[in-house]
Amino acid sequence: MKRVFIALSLLAWTVVSAQAQTSNSPVVSNRIVLVIHGGAGTILKSQMTAEREKAYRDSLTFALKRGYAILKNGGTALDAVEATIKVLEDCPLFNAGKGAVFAHNGKNELDAAIMNGKTLEAGAVAGVTTIKNPISAARSVMEKSGHVMLIGKGAEEFAKGEGIEIVDPSYFYTEERWRSLQKAKKEDSLKAAGKAMKGSAILSNSGQNPDHKFGTVGAVALDRYGNLAAATSTGGMTNKKYGRVGDSPIIGAGTYANNETCAISCTGVGEVFMRLVVAKTVSDLIEFRHYSLQQAAEEVIMHKLGTFQGSGGLIGVDRQGNITMPFNTEGMYRGYMKEDGTVVVKVYAGE
Ligand code: ASP
Repeated sequence: MKRVFIALSLLAWTVVSAQAQTSNSPVVSNRIVLVIHGGAGTILKSQMTAEREKAYRDSLTFALKRGYAILKNGGTALDAVEATIKVLEDCPLFNAGKGAVFAHNGKNELDAAIMNGKTLEAGAVAGVTTIKNPISAARSVMEKSGHVMLIGKGAEEFAKGEGIEIVDPSYFYTEERWRSLQKAKKEDSLKAAGKAMKGSAILSNSGQNPDHKFGTVGAVALDRYGNLAAATSTGGMTNKKYGRVGDSPIIGAGTYANNETCAISCTGVGEVFMRLVVAKTVSDLIEFRHYSLQQAAEEVIMHKLGTFQGSGGLIGVDRQGNITMPFNTEGMYRGYMKEDGTVVVKVYAGE
């Protein structure tokens, strides 16, 4: 009788402790995943030189390896996505940090967001012009400000107070982005004059340009404790209006993470992603409709987005380590690393 009682107690303890292993418990597993994007858009092999393609692939590989090393050494998903984004922000090839595009007023206004899937805490900055790595400022907003989003001068003052690196706005100047702005302005004025050539029109309000490579950067990760995190950073859209904010720093639109569902980072014409609340919708389809990550992401990107003339893509990872990288443009800079440590980097559709 006593033995039966002990056996039953042990069984009860096992059940209770299994229930206590919620998403917040430090359950260590070997499953680690990092997925990144460097923007979607009209990325065609016919328009790419071999050197340029190699430069993109090398930069994506470098960023993946940086974040993956953190996960491999037992670091958190949050640390991994922040470190990965910082590498991409420092690379002039991408539309974030150093390579940010210019707004209509000739300034670089940067947006970024980060989210912790374990706690649903989130942080974002928008319209900042002097923060070298906006993603680190977003993380500080999340952890130290008591708020979710800070904008403009307030965000910059806060970041400075937190010891985050501040640079002169001229740091963000790159010749290539400046030329893109001039081209976009010219196309806009041609259009305004009713002389736009076929296929070269800029739809200035939505920021849609057939030539456009969005170039925003994003990272999502699963760490060995079962936690998810997402981060996105961008310069927005070339020739955007002064003060325009896109989806990237909007929690639920361009960035979202929840341990119970998935971590998502988006890229594309932000106005449509905001209206469709893309990242949270993917999460909701998983939570309330019990879709798989792949089904949910494809539903939103391959079906819904197009019906609203939206273009772009997203990356996602779920708690089981499944990943998704759908896009409805010609290409999306993207890649991932899983527990086997193999680096996978892709650029074009159909790769
Ligand atoms: N989604 C970004 C924005 O609208 C642009 C991009 O993905 O490149 O600001």
